[in-house]
Amino acid sequence: MDFTTSENQKMIANMIRDFGKKEMQEHIMEWDEDQIFPVPLFKKLGELGLMGVLVPEEYGGSGLSYHEYVTAIIELGKICGSIALSVAAHNSLCTNHILIFGTDSQKKKYLPKLATGEWIGAWGLTEHNTGSDAGGMMTTATRDGDYYILNGTKNFITHGKSGDVAVIIVRTGKKRDSRGMSTFIIEKGTPGFTSGKKENKLGMRASETTELMFDNCRLHKDNLLGKEGEGFIQALKILEGGRISIAALSIGIATGAFEAATKYAKERHQFGKPIAEFQAIGFKLADMATKIEASLLLTQQASDLKNRKKEVNKISAMAKLYASETAVWVTNEAVQIFGGYGYTKDYPVEKYFRDAKLCTIGEGTSEIQKLVISRECLK
Ligand SMILES: Cc1cc2nc3c(=O)[nH]c(=O)nc-3n(C[C@H](O)[C@H](O)[C@H](O)COP(=O)(O)OP(=O)(O)OC[C@H]3O[C@@H](n4cnc5c(N)ncnc54)[C@H](O)[C@@H]3O)c2cc1C
Repeated sequence: MDFTTSENQKMIANMIRDFGKKEMQEHIMEWDEDQIFPVPLFKKLGELGLMGVLVPEEYGGSGLSYHEYVTAIIELGKICGSIALSVAAHNSLCTNHILIFGTDSQKKKYLPKLATGEWIGAWGLTEHNTGSDAGGMMTTATRDGDYYILNGTKNFITHGKSGDVAVIIVRTGKKRDSRGMSTFIIEKGTPGFTSGKKENKLGMRASETTELMFDNCRLHKDNLLGKEGEGFIQALKILEGGRISIAALSIGIATGAFEAATKYAKERHQFGKPIAEFQAIGFKLADMATKIEASLLLTQQASDLKNRKKEVNKISAMAKLYASETAVWVTNEAVQIFGGYGYTKDYPVEKYFRDAKLCTIGEGTSEIQKLVISRECLK
């Protein structure tokens, strides 16, 4: 496998770095502290082709591969984890679900709006009592002629309030039956469909996380995505790609923290010399760099398999597990290298540290990734 950075990837990375300096850098801490989800920024990201990276050009997307997608999420993650998380959720979850399982008319209706950033997408699987154990979900869709009546609440949904359209997985059959769940597309403003509580979070504070509520919400059967009963199986497939994006997000956050810590270690003097010259600090940087590089290799391997439409379940779980645990570890070390200053908001590492923790939780916790990997090992 040749993972040399392509010209396309270099161009995307430069474009995002430039965009970050002009449009993001000065607002990042304000968005974070005030929990502002900057909707207009996503229109601009859409103009750059970053809201439909994997969507074919015929549907208004960029028509690129997972390699370019991973580059984009890494570069955004270096600048701001929240924005990278939102771009990842929009691309990998909502948009990709419609791309992979939508009918031609659903794709024509939704993909051009999503891929250009005109619309922001949400994806709802999790509920208050069912996160890892999504098969036990309680939100129901009951058939009524040509319609389904939806009742229940989804929890922790990225873009639950600002999203223009959501892909939701709800119960249409028996509890715990893997064929008892179905997927629907639902637009903002549909009667009976509202957003609820917005979470006040440790990190990723500029990425909006809310409840989605359904109160006798009537949806026409044309809103069904794929066949009735396929929802859970579809969700698992979507999460395979989603894990690659969270691995990339983790690498971006870890790299941002590593670069800041390296620069600081060369500038900060104690005992008459730069702290980088103490072996204890140099070895930290060595371990940080090695773990980031290993995370990248796993993620590139998963991207390569995904691009070639090969089995990716185990490798994408490994990439997500390793990269997210690395991000938490690396950002912790970065705060340590900054000493007391790392604990303040004058430097970027405290935010990297807070943002990184989400990566071991969202789209399947580290424990769930180990379940996936161990099951594959024991086959
Ligand atoms: C910022 C943010 C954004 C999110 N965005 C979305 C979104 O857009 N859409 C969406 O659907 N969801 C979203 N989520 C939800 C996220 O995917 C869940 O939080 C995650 O899957 C874990 O579920 P839980 O929080 O209910 O934890 P639980 O499932 O209750 O887990 C609690 C603990 O128990 C462990 N555990 C559970 N089961 C097992 C087991 N079998 N073996 C070993 N350990 C186990 C877990 O690993 C964890 O440590 C988001 C969450 C956050 C925080």
